[in-house]
Parts: sequence; structure tokens; C-alpha cells
Amino acid sequence: MSLTQVVRMRVFQCLRCDECCYFDNEERGPILFEDELARLRALARARGFDIRYRELNINGVRVYRWLMRGYCPFYDREGKACTIHAVKPLACKMYPLLYNPNTGEVLISKECRWVNEALSAGERLGLSNFPEETKALEEALARLYKVKVRIHG
Ligand code: SF4
Ligand code: SF4
Repeated sequence: MSLTQVVRMRVFQCLRCDECCYFDNEERGPILFEDELARLRALARARGFDIRYRELNINGVRVYRWLMRGYCPFYDREGKACTIHAVKPLACKMYPLLYNPNTGEVLISKECRWVNEALSAGERLGLSNFPEETKALEEALARLYKVKVRIHG
């Protein structure tokens, strides 16, 4: 009799621990594309505040560092939820995946509690553990490198 070992892959499921919506250093704020910045500014103004940002350039594409300290102004601390979840920027959608344009590396952030727990449990993590976040990562990379996917032939 042969035994088949079924290995179940853990798919990332946010624990809503709030850690990634808190910024102790404004240089670690999410990177925004131009349209995302405009959308966030409109949403912020509707709530009576504005957001701070600094212009950056990645591969000739103008992007912006969202400068904030403490909890993100769109974070609902009581409900432990992002109040703009459906329209949050790609950088937030792809987390805990990070992209380093200087090295071309995609990183899985150990600062994420789910990642930490999975690693502590001996899990070997890769992009396949993060299907939804990988889609956001791919969209961000396509925008930075102007990659278009099309059917060949
Ligand atoms: S936009 Fe939402 S997910 Fe992104 S940092 Fe703010 S609260 Fe968190
Ligand atoms: S740190 Fe990870 S588990 Fe915690 S809220 Fe952020 S994405 Fe979710």
C-alpha cells in the first residue's frame, strides 16, 4: 500500500493585527502611483485632511512616498480595518510582499505577523502562498516596467 502525503499549502490570511498600518518612520510609508495619490488626496479631503508625500522616481516612472507617522489616517483602530480597503493603493494590496527596485528583489516581510507565525511553524514561503497579493505585485511591476501581457499567435 502506498501512502500519499498531502501537503497543504497555507494561503495568506491577514490576522488584522494592525501592525502594517502603523508607521514609526515616515520613510517607510507606502509608495503610490500618480492616480493613487490623486485618489487618496480626494478621499482625505472629503474627510477633512490632506496627505503628505514626496516625489520619487523609479525606472523613469514618477511615484510618491506617502509620508505619515503613527496610524494611517484611513485606519479604523476600533474595527481593526482599513476604511478604504476596496480602493487602497497597490502597495497596501500587495503587502506582505515588498518590492525593492534597487535590487529587483521581491521580499516577503517578516514584519507581518502571519508571515512570522508561518515561518515559526516551519513553513517555507513563496509567492504561491500569496495569490491575491501577487496579483497586486504584478500590477505594480507592470506599471513600473510598462510590461504588457498579450496572447501570442
Ligand atoms: S490605506 Fe489602508 S491598508 Fe494602507 S496603510 Fe492605510 S489603513 Fe493600512
Ligand atoms: S502585519 Fe500582516 S497579519 Fe498583521 S495586519 Fe498587516 S498584513 Fe495582516
